[in-house]
Amino acid sequence: MGKCITEGRPPSTGRTALSGAKTGAGAGSDALLGITAKSSRGYREGMSRGRGKAKGKATDKAGRAQRYAAHSTARELLRADALKRYPGEYPGDVHRTCDCRYVNHGSVGVHYTAAHQSAHYGGLVTCGSVWACPICASKIQERRRLEIEQGIEWALLNGFQPIMVTFTFPHRAFHTLRELLDMQAEAFRLLRKTTRWRKLMKRLGFQGLIRSLEVTHGVNGWHPHTHELWFVDPSVGTALQVELVDLWQAACVSAGLLDDSDAVAVWAFGQHSVDVRCNATAGAYLAKQDDSRSWGMAHEVAKATSKAGRAKGCHPHHFLIRQAPGDAERYLEYVQGMKGRRQLFWSPGLKAKAGIGDASDDELAKDQREAADLLALLPPEVWKVVRGNDARAELLDAAERDGADGIALLLWSLGVEFTPPPSRGGGDDGPE
Ligand SMILES: [Zn+2]
Repeated sequence: MGKCITEGRPPSTGRTALSGAKTGAGAGSDALLGITAKSSRGYREGMSRGRGKAKGKATDKAGRAQRYAAHSTARELLRADALKRYPGEYPGDVHRTCDCRYVNHGSVGVHYTAAHQSAHYGGLVTCGSVWACPICASKIQERRRLEIEQGIEWALLNGFQPIMVTFTFPHRAFHTLRELLDMQAEAFRLLRKTTRWRKLMKRLGFQGLIRSLEVTHGVNGWHPHTHELWFVDPSVGTALQVELVDLWQAACVSAGLLDDSDAVAVWAFGQHSVDVRCNATAGAYLAKQDDSRSWGMAHEVAKATSKAGRAKGCHPHHFLIRQAPGDAERYLEYVQGMKGRRQLFWSPGLKAKAGIGDASDDELAKDQREAADLLALLPPEVWKVVRGNDARAELLDAAERDGADGIALLLWSLGVEFTPPPSRGGGDDGPE
């Protein structure tokens, strides 16, 4: 976790030669550059790009810095966990997240996507873990959002109504996450196998669903819950909620999640366990997910000051930033507990009907759709310095602000005189 950047170190020659790199947003030239950091045209272009940033970009940068910082902590925790539990094995084989955006295949490309004004790395290992990895989770979520929007568009075009159904259940601080997830899975299995359920679905004109599994942690411990989006007949109204509470209550009692002799618990269950929203929009559904998944300083501070926020708890990736007593253990429990569970589930055949391909989380974590320029290719020994100084996010900030010159200046500050070999290409893992 230790950060040891040698800041402000002056370059030994006063000049950095960068070759084989394009500068600036969407620069069309492949010309090799030998640039003096403070006087080149590329540098000024980079500066103006930095000044022209929208306010949102600053938030993006802060979010990215936090994701990388969280990943660095996750990496330490997961490595220690792997070494303790599987001493003979390579930690990256036990937890792929240990190597994510850290271990390189060869030289590391720093790419710039003009369409998003964002820089990203190529040639690094990606883990594709939506649960363990703060960087991949964000990337995958961004792509899955587009799929959900497309699913809703399909439903509306075909005359179906999207409704949002949230299922929760009582939980206590002494429950382990795995116990709760197993009981939750059992409750859903029991709920959906009844004849009453099948009849209800028929009556609703049920076409399929998208379900997202969310986990937060608060004063009452782990809080797994699901947000579902059902595509049903346009005539379906909120009266459905009463019927669903009844069915969900029976399932939760059978699964051991609710004690039906506890009148107070049963009353509270009736009030809070099922929430139905008709005519749901993509924005409303995604906001529901964000409510459980978004994390980061601003979000957590806002939550900490509101009663509703405190009750909802925080996303487990926030443990990696907060680092309160017990947070490291909680993060590891979360990673173990979520292993093998799907975050997003679509009814079989629904994606095909909506014309959506079946990309895995792993593929989405690597996915890069927009054209990107290669700003610099960092040899392995230079990358080692960047990651060793915990400067992965800072280097992307510098690349976005000042292009290739920014990369050179940041490397100077780390004590590296950067003269990369002229080259293009390298892997391309998409914005992060
Ligand atoms: Zn990852």
